[in-house]
Amino acid sequence: MTDGVLRLKRGHDRARVHPWIFKGDVADVSDVEPGGVVTVVDAGGRFVGRGLFNPRPALCCRLLTWTDEAIDAQFWQRRLAAALAARAGRAGAARLVWSEADALAGLVIDRYGPVVVLQTVTLGMARRRAELAAALRGAVGDVAVFCVDDPIAATLEGFEPAAGWLDAPGPTSPGPTSVIVEEGAARFLVRVGGGHKTGLYLDQADNRLRVALLGAARAVLDVFAYTAGFACHALLAGATSAVCVESSKDALAGAVDNLALNGVAARAEVRDANAFDELRRLDRAGARFGLVVLDPPPFARGRGALEGALRGYKEINLRAIRLLEPGGVLATFSCSHHVSEGAFEAMVRDAAGDAGARLRVLAPLTQSADHPVLLTVPETRYLKGLLLERM
Ligand code: SAH
Repeated sequence: MTDGVLRLKRGHDRARVHPWIFKGDVADVSDVEPGGVVTVVDAGGRFVGRGLFNPRPALCCRLLTWTDEAIDAQFWQRRLAAALAARAGRAGAARLVWSEADALAGLVIDRYGPVVVLQTVTLGMARRRAELAAALRGAVGDVAVFCVDDPIAATLEGFEPAAGWLDAPGPTSPGPTSVIVEEGAARFLVRVGGGHKTGLYLDQADNRLRVALLGAARAVLDVFAYTAGFACHALLAGATSAVCVESSKDALAGAVDNLALNGVAARAEVRDANAFDELRRLDRAGARFGLVVLDPPPFARGRGALEGALRGYKEINLRAIRLLEPGGVLATFSCSHHVSEGAFEAMVRDAAGDAGARLRVLAPLTQSADHPVLLTVPETRYLKGLLLERM
């Protein structure tokens, strides 16, 4: 079957370094099946690139290549090889493919030991799950592939979200139900197909390793702890104690498991609480910590929610700063793309002002290196943080 052709409107066709094409950019599209390949041309008919098309969402095409090459089995092999090469030497759990950042828009692949979790975000990628898995196995060997799609993206794109083993129809389960992965000195239990994201917040892996070292000989407060990743690392690095605050039952159970798995449970306490309430309570009680980690979920899911989100971020940061002993360290994060680094820093400065605390910037923090940022696709930069010391 020949590819469809998508012609861009005049004035919407300047060099497209960004892969997203919206319906409003399109002059016309030839007959192409939803999820099929289209060759994108400018208003004058000149080649722009090639991508996967879906007439349903406003974001109707994501470019995969800017070279006149076929999108076939060899194409996926080349792309996957490049993504894997970029992570060479990264041991343990890792994000192997990150959508736009690896020129594989609509596809995410994470490795958890012998299992890879494959997530498709577009109809075109969802239709190619088996082909993508075959290309991946060609590169890394015969891994067990678990598919888990975001139901919201699936609805938007019009496909059935997967939640199960790719090769499920068989007498035995094609993969383990849980795996233990190593992250530096720590070990984490990952329930395949359970938990948030694809199992772990891999985007925080580099920060967990770095921040935890500052917990040595200190009392640690891990707020929005999920499965106690930061706390486990800090305790392994010699923290005297750790309090984990988390409100999801599954995450709390995971935190208990991980603390035990790492042999640090005796120095840890897991609190089932709303972080806002618990920070207020600790503040009122005059508690003090040597290391506080604040890693909230995205408060701003859209641009419109920004003001309210910044109020929320400021409240938790204000309380966290007040809980710092002199010389204490705060690692504070936002994973909302819509909160810019500038706005984030201004918010923390405001919170410090209200707390009457002077803070030294030890380092800016960002997402793990296996979640690369494309300068030309600003949406790929979303996790930002500051490592601050109370003076
Ligand atoms: N620091 C973690 C990731 C945190 S993700 C890690 O490195 O693995 C954010 C977490 O905040 C999620 O686990 C979510 O369940 C939890 N959460 C969301 N809202 C909360 C609230 N109001 N109080 C406590 N926890 C909350």
